[in-house]
Amino acid sequence: MAATGIPFLEGRYSPTLDMWPIEAKEFNRIYKFYENLREGKFTTTKCKKCGRVAYPPRVICPECYSDELEWIELPRKGKVAVAVEKWGGVPICYEPPLIDAWIDLGEDSPVRHILSRMVNCPPETLKEGDEVQLVVFDVPAHPIELKKETKMAERVFFAFEPVKK
Ligand SMILES: [Zn+2]
Repeated sequence: MAATGIPFLEGRYSPTLDMWPIEAKEFNRIYKFYENLREGKFTTTKCKKCGRVAYPPRVICPECYSDELEWIELPRKGKVAVAVEKWGGVPICYEPPLIDAWIDLGEDSPVRHILSRMVNCPPETLKEGDEVQLVVFDVPAHPIELKKETKMAERVFFAFEPVKK
């Protein structure tokens, strides 16, 4: 599932664009999100008590505060509802434009809309209704301290890209 051809991500991943930039398996329960991504699955959490689906995934239900959550899969394809190109104020390691989209995952999805970075997408080409799909890519591993030892935390992250017509 690893995507190539994303030059601005090769060695220049910016943690400011990640929901949980320093997450590592040893520290919390959100890490499953990244393990699922590695298998090509786009997932979030659903509360076993009240059924509330939250995105981004949580460790505690925002509705009833239960910590009995389960992982559910979301669609890996959707349609662009709104696309935004940022030409100014982008993180220091990126070439503008950065393209973000508010993506409609469809009526049957447990989460109707999500916001995502768009990649493999030339400027001024993305429009409402365009079909887009999940892309998973490796990001540079970062060092974490664990029991006074430093180890490298392997990471993946995601974006969406246009489906080729
Ligand atoms: Zn709940």
